[in-house]
Amino acid sequence: MKEFELIRQIQRDTCVDYPAGFQHGVRLGIGDDAAVLELPTGTQLVAATDTLNAGVHFPDDTAVFDIGYKCLAVNLSDLAAMGATPRWALLSLSLSQADPDWVTQFAEGFRSLAQAHRVTLVGGDTTRGPLSINVTALGFVEPGRQLTRDGAGAGDLVVLSGSTGAAACVLQALQSGRHVADRRRLDRPRPRVRLGQSLKGYASACIDVSDGLLADLGHVLEASGCAARLDIDKLPENALLAGCDQAQKRLFQLSGGDDYELLFTLPRRHRDWLGKLAASLDIPLTVIGEIEAGKGIRCVAADGAAYLPPDTGFEHFRRKP
Ligand code: ADP
Ligand code: MG
Repeated sequence: MKEFELIRQIQRDTCVDYPAGFQHGVRLGIGDDAAVLELPTGTQLVAATDTLNAGVHFPDDTAVFDIGYKCLAVNLSDLAAMGATPRWALLSLSLSQADPDWVTQFAEGFRSLAQAHRVTLVGGDTTRGPLSINVTALGFVEPGRQLTRDGAGAGDLVVLSGSTGAAACVLQALQSGRHVADRRRLDRPRPRVRLGQSLKGYASACIDVSDGLLADLGHVLEASGCAARLDIDKLPENALLAGCDQAQKRLFQLSGGDDYELLFTLPRRHRDWLGKLAASLDIPLTVIGEIEAGKGIRCVAADGAAYLPPDTGFEHFRRKP
């Protein structure tokens, strides 16, 4: 199979029929040297890109459908953290061989999520090499309304959507050769796109949790120039962590990556609104701490005792061998 046949297959298999009247803004899509896209009037472009390498960002035995799903999900999560509305994607695929069956399954996973968020694939690149998938997600936001990392202020509440730790727990089980009945928390993260959009005008800072709660909260604090108290006994506990001992549970909750939840700070006056938002979106939103003046993260247990976290998150090139 030739490269151009693969591209045609990708185009065909990822194509979504959107309802009449939906403005996807694609003036020119796949097939020319570049795509031509039209933003809705009065909006600015928001762009994010992320690469998934086999064996690093997903286990080698990951279902091909899930690879297609996840490569888009992690990018939509970045747009969600900005409060943006996703619209288009570019896909650069490095494949060790031109395998149409693989592409069929991959495209099915990609399309399932693209359709859910009304995203259109508008271009990309296809090369031969070790399996690697790069997606660029493009979306839009009204000028000045984007959520950033640098707006947190002392007194703001620290809020987490869903829970953290389950994806890392699944990954560890797989790596130690245990059978895992339900891998979805690792393979099918749900980008919190609607939540991100709803936070515009309310949240003072926002980030998606990809590297671990402490690491990503650290990024917000650094950008905002402040500190935080983290109430570790308020951290939501995913059912998948039920079998872990306390220390292991904390490690997953505080430092496990790949959850793609949103972590945001909220001025106190919006506290009542938070409950209504959680109910209307049907997403748990938990206040897990508070922004303080100063530097760093102070983990505190329910009895007021300080808790010293064992690890501060996943970083490439700093992984233990
Ligand atoms: P060029 O040599 O000009 O880069 P390509 O042959 O790489 O052209 O691509 C031809 C068209 O197919 C372009 O519109 C490109 O965006 C699109 N394309 C190539 N690979 C992919 C892919 N993996 N997914 C989506 N579109 C792709
Ligand atoms: Mg090319």
